[in-house]
This record gives sequence, C-alpha cells and structure tokens, in this order.
Amino acid sequence: MSGKYLLAAAVLLLATGLSAQQQSALLFDGQSWWAHVRVLADDKMEGRETGSEGLRRAQAYVVEQLEKDGLRPAGAKGFYQPVKFITRHIVEADSSLALIRDGRREPLVLGDDAFFGTRTDLAPHLAAPLVFVGYGLRIPEMNYDDFAGLNVQGKVVVYLSGSPADVPAALASHYQSAAERGRTLRQYGVLGTIAIPNPASMDIPWSRMSLNRTHPSMALDGNEFRDPAGQKLAVTFNPAQAEKLFSGSGHTFAELAALAKDRKPLPHFPLTPRIESRAKMAKEKLASANLVAVLPGTDPKLKDEYVVLSAHLDHLGIGEPINGDRIYNGAMDNASGSAVLIDVAASFKAHPESLRRSLLFVWVTAEEKGLLGSRYFTAHPTVPERSMVADINVDMFLPILPLKVLCVLGLAESDLGDRARAVAEAHGVEVQPDPEPLRNRFIRSDQYNFIQHGIPAVKMDNSFLPGSAEQKIFKEWLTNRYHAPSDDLDQPVDQAAAGLYEQIIRDLLVTVANSNARPAWKPDSFFRRFVNRPERTPPSPY
Ligand SMILES: [Zn+2]
Repeated sequence: MSGKYLLAAAVLLLATGLSAQQQSALLFDGQSWWAHVRVLADDKMEGRETGSEGLRRAQAYVVEQLEKDGLRPAGAKGFYQPVKFITRHIVEADSSLALIRDGRREPLVLGDDAFFGTRTDLAPHLAAPLVFVGYGLRIPEMNYDDFAGLNVQGKVVVYLSGSPADVPAALASHYQSAAERGRTLRQYGVLGTIAIPNPASMDIPWSRMSLNRTHPSMALDGNEFRDPAGQKLAVTFNPAQAEKLFSGSGHTFAELAALAKDRKPLPHFPLTPRIESRAKMAKEKLASANLVAVLPGTDPKLKDEYVVLSAHLDHLGIGEPINGDRIYNGAMDNASGSAVLIDVAASFKAHPESLRRSLLFVWVTAEEKGLLGSRYFTAHPTVPERSMVADINVDMFLPILPLKVLCVLGLAESDLGDRARAVAEAHGVEVQPDPEPLRNRFIRSDQYNFIQHGIPAVKMDNSFLPGSAEQKIFKEWLTNRYHAPSDDLDQPVDQAAAGLYEQIIRDLLVTVANSNARPAWKPDSFFRRFVNRPERTPPSPY
C-alpha cells in the first residue's frame, strides 16, 4: 500500500467520524496475508482435498499459527473437530445413459452429453418417462409450484436451473438448495432428475463442469445426516446438447433458454423420449476435520457469546489436468479466506483490542463437497448453538482488483448487514447487494448452514458495478480460473485490496463483539424462520 493511499484513506476515515483508534487502524497491508496464501496454496498441499494428506498438512500449518498467536483450542480434540464422511463415485465403464424414442435406443455420451450426479444412491437400472417441469421449484410463500397439476409420480423430471423474476433472490436461492428441492421431489413421488444448467448463469463452461465428474462426491456419515431415500437418478445435461431431449415435444431448448435468461415463466410438458440408465457406484469411508479456535472476550456475561469468523480450508485436490497441471491449488478458493482468518486472529496479538464477546475462528472442511464441514459444525457446535451471535463467512473474496465495491450477501436480511455496510463505508468502500442473484451465491457457501440454525450471517466479496470494465475481469476469472488448476499462486493479486478487506473484517468483528445488542434478523427476512427451530444437540464442551 502506498503512502499516498494511506493518506487518502486517513482523510476518508476522518470524514466519516470514526473513533481515533479506528482512524489509525489500517493494520494490514496484504503482505502477511499473501505469505499465508503462498503456504496454503503451494503445490505441496496438493489442492487440499477433503480427507487428504495435503489438507492435513494445511491444517497443521494453521494450528501452528494459532499456537504461535495465542489462540485457544475450541474443537473437540484440541483445535480439531473430527468429521466422518462416506464417499461415492461412479464407475463409468459400467454405467450408461440413453434416450429411448419410438423403441429406438439413442445412447448418450457420458461427459459430452450428460453426467451422473453421485450425491444420492443411484438405482443400478432404471427406465422412465420424462417430463419438463420448467424451473422445477415449489415456493409456498409465493404460491408458486412448477409441479401443480402435473403427473410426475414415478417419472424423471427435466428442469432448467434458475427461477422466475418475481421471486426474491434469497427465496429463489433457498428453494434451489438440494435439501429443499429434495423435499419437493419426494412429495411428488419423482423418481429422478435431469438438471440443465442455465446457460445465462453458468460459472464455468461445460467442458470443465464435466471434467472431474468421476471424482468422489461426499456425504456426512451418520443416521442423522442420511437423506431420506427417494431420488434414484440424478443427471446433469449439457445445455449445448439439450435439443436431444426436446425434439418432438413442440418446444426447443433454444426457446426455453431464451425465456430462462430473462427469468420469464417456463411451460411444462411431457417429453417424447424415455430415459434409460445403468449406474454402478463405489462407496468408501473417509475422515477429515474442522478446526476451531477461540479468542476469549472479557465481559463477564458477554464472553459466553461468540462472533464466528468462518472459512473453508478444503479445495478440490488433484484432478484431471488442464494445460498439463493437475493440482487444483485453490489459491483464491479458499486459501485466500483461510489466510484472512489466520491473519485477523494474529492481529489481536500484535494489536490487542478489548473485546466483550469472544471470537470463534472456524476453518471448515468439505465445503466443496456441499457445505458438509459447516453442516456438521452447526449441527454439533463446540460452543452452545444459541451462543453464536453471528457468522461472518469468508470464501473466495477475490482480491484480484482494488477493493472499491463490496458485495454483501445477506445485506438486507439482518442488521449484521447494516453493520457491514457502516464498516465498509467508513473505509470509503461502496456496498451493494448481490448483483447476480441467478448465481445463488447466498446458499453456496458455509454461511448458509449458520443461517439455517437461526444465526445472522453475511459473506462479503470484492465486487463491481454492473456494466463496468471490472465486471468483465471478474467474469473472465470465473470462466478461466474458478475450480481450475490456474487458481494458483501465478495469478495477478492485489495485496492492498486484501489488506483493506481484512481491516473491514476486523472492524466488523470488533463492532459486533462490543455492541450491547447481538445481531438480529430483519422482521421481514425470510430467513428469520430458522431462529425458532429447537436446539437439537447438546453442545460438547471443549
Ligand atoms: Zn469452490
């Protein structure tokens, strides 16, 4: 960070009426952050796959830092909270998909046309009629039901991912979550699904979506996490090949995709072909862990409450090579966020601050497998569930350009959003809600599990103004580097942006830790409903 910039920032801070302490408090320049990223995203960590030696090495590094910085262990075994998994993968050599039309079998090419999803137990053999169900959503609050009046019992439904425009973004995201979708599908007796990604909101191209399709998927082990049986087939279909499904139906995929692009209503109708599937799956057991550390507060009463700062440390591991590189380093996703937690935790040693509430730092595992580490942590928190007053989640905040605009997911849902706005604006950073609701980012990272336990949460990312040159750069990053081996240490990074981001995170933590009232959901927030869910599991003392 240049001296000139520091001066400008100081002037801005003066203008916003922050305390003297906050004015002088640009404690981060991004250099220590980058040093941690360099360790965590090094080839030696082998992409930090859940359950791998590489992730264990990365965790050992985090623990080493925590011990050095005087944080206290708050897991179940020291800093560690063990988590057990079941892995599933498809044996493609013994699996196949085909469309049956007028008795004729049209084989589909796995990888080019479609691939199997493996998060449920696929039936070894299945043949069923197909029905197109639009977005495949049921949203009671909006009186919206794509299945109303359709006969889908015992059939495979085809849907286009997305949602109609009149459904608010948060609600649309919630009902597109696997859990809510599963509930609706079971209710209607649906046998299986073929999901077509919405070409208007695909983060990465099909070729990369399908590249690692034979790698294991994971599920939490244990009866409480077992999803009720039901779905016997889960397929993702290449939008570029989707006309095959629609020919003879009187509709074209091009027409449907054009409607979905603008979030317009979609028709519902039976498809001509039937689907035939043979699926062979292999299952194994696997162990990994979350890491939990506490920085105790000092207020006699409030110290028993916790402000949570979370980030996932896992990534995709070693996979299919792209340009000769097999290591999916995950430098931005999410060594960057994990490093923020290390760095912010350390900053309280170098620059002590009196904190009334305690801070809880949580590095979860298996985010990339469907937010599983955070699902386990929020179901079995190592502090009482109700004592967690907020979750600030850091995942792929993308300091690839100067930080001028901060996107706050959950901005309008709780007063944690208001506090995030105040803190960011005090640093001259503009705040905006999600500019791309179609990407469903509110449910796509670990904050969502905290939200489902009634805990107000935000996730903040470096962002852009719609239509700006920056928007193109972020989009190109997703297309080329997101979940690719090139999300590594050889990419342009703006360390000053990371430093400013860390400052905003730290200021927000301090504000929430020290204010009299704990963060609260807005009266009209949809997510408020989770607050009154009974506390299900007794906390285990650490
Ligand atoms: Zn990711």
